[in-house]
Order: sequence, then structure tokens, then C-alpha cells
Amino acid sequence: MTRLDELNKQRQKEAARIKKSLSSMQEKISSGVKEGEEVVAFVSLDQCIGCDQCILVCDDQAIELYDVPLSTPALDIEINKKAKILRDACTGCILCVNACPTNAITMIDR
Ligand code: SF4
Ligand code: SF4
Repeated sequence: MTRLDELNKQRQKEAARIKKSLSSMQEKISSGVKEGEEVVAFVSLDQCIGCDQCILVCDDQAIELYDVPLSTPALDIEINKKAKILRDACTGCILCVNACPTNAITMIDR
């Protein structure tokens, strides 16, 4: 086996270890999140990057993206979006909490 083959094998092994570790960490995080009709999703705007992953997973059409003006004119970006929760439609299922890559969504009491 060449050195390159060995390195590739090591990389694959390490990637599998990291994936397993992240998956178990996510399960622990999710298990501590309140869910159900007594709670509703809440978006921390500072952490939201408008990526729309939460909208893709929400089965209840309880999330919309809206345009927000940039805080500085020095940046030249055409769109700047944030997620908004439609409280009445939210069922508290926490799918969006697990999908958000920036941990911008938490569950709060209704
Ligand atoms: S998944 Fe998170 S970061 Fe992406 S739009 Fe939704 S709240 Fe914002
Ligand atoms: S908790 Fe469920 S229903 Fe509420 S916004 Fe998130 S994905 Fe949609």
C-alpha cells in the first residue's frame, strides 16, 4: 500500500469518527429542546443567515423569509434575508431547530 492510500484510508476513518461524534452530539442537543404545543420557534436574527434550510423542513408552512436592509452601505449585496416564524402555524415540532446550521432557532414558551 502506498503512502497516499494509507492517508486516504486514515482520512476516511477519521471522517466516519467525526460524523458519528457529531450525530451523537446532535441527538443530545435535541433531547434537551422543549417541543409541542406549549412552545413556539423563535429566530435569533443576529445568527440567521437566511439560508432557508428551516423553510425546507417545516411541514406546517410556519416560516417565511423576508428582506432586511443591510446595516452598512459599504457592503454590496443584493439580498439580505432573515427567517420569520408564523406563530399561529407553528406546531412546535422542532424540525427547524435541528436543521438550522447556525443554531439561530430556539423554542420558547407560547
Ligand atoms: S435555517 Fe437558520 S440560518 Fe437558515 S434561514 Fe432558517 S433560521 Fe436562518
Ligand atoms: S417548530 Fe416545526 S412547525 Fe414550528 S417553525 Fe419549526 S419546523 Fe415549523
